[in-house]
Amino acid sequence: MKYGRVYNFSAGPAIMPEPVLEEIRDEMMNYRGSGMCVMEMSHRSKVYQQIIDEAEADLRTLMGIPDNYKVLFIQGGATLQFAMIPMNLMKNGKAVYIETGAWSKKAIAEAKKYGEVIVAASSKDRNYAYIPDCSDLDIPEDADYVYICENETIHGTTWHNLPNTKGHILVSDQSSMFLSRPCNVADYGLIYGGVQKNIGPAGLAIVIIREDLIREDIDPKTPIYMRYDTHANNGSMYNTPNCWAIYVCGKVFKYLLKNGGLEHMATVNEAKAKVMYDFLDASKMFQGTVDKKDRSLMNIPFVTGDKDKDAAVVAATKAAGFDNLKGHKSVGGLRASVYNAMPIEGVEALVEFLKKYEAENA
Ligand SMILES: *Cc1c(COP(=O)(O)O)cnc(C)c1O
Repeated sequence: MKYGRVYNFSAGPAIMPEPVLEEIRDEMMNYRGSGMCVMEMSHRSKVYQQIIDEAEADLRTLMGIPDNYKVLFIQGGATLQFAMIPMNLMKNGKAVYIETGAWSKKAIAEAKKYGEVIVAASSKDRNYAYIPDCSDLDIPEDADYVYICENETIHGTTWHNLPNTKGHILVSDQSSMFLSRPCNVADYGLIYGGVQKNIGPAGLAIVIIREDLIREDIDPKTPIYMRYDTHANNGSMYNTPNCWAIYVCGKVFKYLLKNGGLEHMATVNEAKAKVMYDFLDASKMFQGTVDKKDRSLMNIPFVTGDKDKDAAVVAATKAAGFDNLKGHKSVGGLRASVYNAMPIEGVEALVEFLKKYEAENA
């Protein structure tokens, strides 16, 4: 591997496209004749304004974001959104949440501080190994929104079909699947994600919100930073934004646009996931932990069924140049996160290694 790099299967912060890292390296000491690094620039400068404007424009092109949606760059990661969403969107003080794992549980706990939370469906009974049927939910007429975590980073599930919200606004945490496949933005009221899984460096969330959901008549005690109208009315620059992360994300957007866009990413991601799942389905030593119909294309947990064996496999993969394959403690075993930037060669090499390991340790 170039530069002595490893195949990095981390769930996040995670692997970045190498051409993007190389471009950043080349611009490090002097960004395009500005005489400074992007880290050293005023966010009020012309040169930086162009960076953030292009990042937003490129994201709009990539996802086909309609004009009546705002794109906001907000610090505090995805976690801050667990609070900002109910603080800004709960008008009637009531929302429906679907519980599909650790990340929706955290969002539910936070939303409960601001209003009534109705958990209309849950997959808790089988440790979140599937997506519950949400084709005919009991949704109160006055619920302000329906909330989902669209890809469960820890448990390895994905919504391959969106829930039937019965006309209510859909709010989605796309942190670990952002830009992994085409997305019809108009199906949602609000899409958000921390960028450190599938896009860029940690510490930044992107929020895509329909304009009419940005309200001014919210609790006046809401901190200024936590009001969507603050960010929308100030071009995501009410205060100093995460300039560096926005710059890097902008590079990734350009890289994706140049390399076939989201249609192409979906094709490649499906091919990558198929290599892993075909192996797991044929293996006698390893099993996937998620129901086939709900399997994630991004985060693939698998187990041997024996803790010591799992640990031995993790150690062996690390020694062979495959890093960060240890599973999350709530699922155990191993987890391969195969985000956009993971080349198919990395997945094929991992599967070759695991096949050989299985043969030698059967
Ligand atoms: C990682 C993750 C988060 C939390 O992101 P932070 O940026 O660390 O706050 C939230 N939701 C999902 C689905 C995640 O994968």
